[in-house]
Amino acid sequence: MKNSTRKLQIIHVDMDAFYASIEQRDNPDLRGKPVVVGGRPNSRGVASTCSYEARKYGIRSAMPLTEARRRCPHAVFLPVDMPKYAKVSSQIHRIFQDYTPIIEPISLDEAFLDVTDSTRLFGSAHIIALEIKERIKKELDLTASVGLAPNKFLAKIASDIQKPDGFVMLTEEEIQDFLDPLPVEKIWGVGPKTAEKLHMLHIKTIRELKALDQVTLRNHFGTAGSQLYYLARGIDNRPVETEREAKSIGRETTFPQDLSDTEVLQTFILDLSADVARKLRKESLKAKTISLKVRFADFRTVSRSKTLDSYTSLDQDIYAQANYLFQELRLSQPVRLIGVSVHNLVPEESQQSLFETANPEKEKLAKTMDTIKERFGENSITLARLLNLYSKEKE
Ligand SMILES: [Mg+2]
Repeated sequence: MKNSTRKLQIIHVDMDAFYASIEQRDNPDLRGKPVVVGGRPNSRGVASTCSYEARKYGIRSAMPLTEARRRCPHAVFLPVDMPKYAKVSSQIHRIFQDYTPIIEPISLDEAFLDVTDSTRLFGSAHIIALEIKERIKKELDLTASVGLAPNKFLAKIASDIQKPDGFVMLTEEEIQDFLDPLPVEKIWGVGPKTAEKLHMLHIKTIRELKALDQVTLRNHFGTAGSQLYYLARGIDNRPVETEREAKSIGRETTFPQDLSDTEVLQTFILDLSADVARKLRKESLKAKTISLKVRFADFRTVSRSKTLDSYTSLDQDIYAQANYLFQELRLSQPVRLIGVSVHNLVPEESQQSLFETANPEKEKLAKTMDTIKERFGENSITLARLLNLYSKEKE
C-alpha cells in the first residue's frame, strides 16, 4: 500500500502532433508542410492531428476537414493510419517500461508514469524524465513534451506549458507560483461550460479561483467544486492507474419504451448487477468501485459511482451499491437506458483481495451457482430464488 504522505514522482509524456509527426518522419516530402491527418478534405470527418505548420493557419484537432481546407487549401490531407500509430505507440511504451511498470496510457500519444520507486535504480526522476525524452528522439525520431511533478494534475500542466519539445519539472516549492497566473481552462476537467460559469463569477485565473472557499464552489459546481478547490492548490491524489486497474466491466440496457416504475427498474438493475458479477467471477477478478448509469427520456445521462471498503465479485454487493446510487438519484422523469459497471479491478488471487475478502462462503456459493447455470441453463436459478437464497444466508 502506498503511503499517501510520501512524495510521488509523476511524469506525463505527451507526443507532439503525434500522427502528423509520424507521417512527416516517414515521408520527407511532408516535412515543413502543413499536414492534416483525418481523411479527405471534402469528407465529413474532422482533423485528428495537424502539424505545427498547419496550426499556423488556425487548424486545430477536432475541426471539420472542410473548415481546415478553407483555412489552408494547400495543406496535405492524409487518412488516419491507426495500425501504424499504434505500432509507434507501443514502441514508446517499451521505452517507458524500461523505467517503471506503473504506466497509465491516456491515449496512443499520452501517458502518465509513476517513477517514485524507480529512482533507486536510475538516479533522480529528473534524469529518468530526460532520458525518456531523449530516447524517444533518438530511437524513434519523434519529439515528446514531458512534465515532471508530484502528481498527475501538475505533471499534465507541466508537459503542456512548453510544447512542442518541452521539458518542465515542478518542485513542491514552485507549485503555487506556477499555477496562480494560469487561466482556469488549464485545469484538467475544466471544459468550456465550467470555464464559462467561472468567468461569470469573475474568475479567470487559478489565483482568482483560490479565493473561493469549498462551500461556495460546491454550491456552484457540485462535487466537481471540491475538486476545483484542491486542484487550484495543486493537490491531486489520483494514483497512476495501470491499464488493468483502469479496466472495467459493464452491462447496460436500453428499454424499448421509457420506464418510470421504480420496482421494474430495480429488477433491471438486479439483473445487470448479476451479469456483471458473474463476468467478474468468470475472469477471476474482483472490483472495488460500482457505477450506475442512467439515461433519461430527454437523453440527459448521469453516472454515479461508489467505492467500497473491500473488493467483491458478489451479485448482492454490486446490486446493493447500484441500487443505493439509483435511489439517491430521485427519478424525476422516465428512464431510457440503465447500466451497471464495475471499476478498480484486481485479480481474485492477489494479496490485496485475499486480505480484504469479506465473504468467502458467499463467494463459494456464487461460483457454485455459476456452474449450475452453465450446466442447466440461464433460468435454472431465477433471480427471485437467488435473492431468497441470499436473504436466508444472512439469517
Ligand atoms: Mg499529444
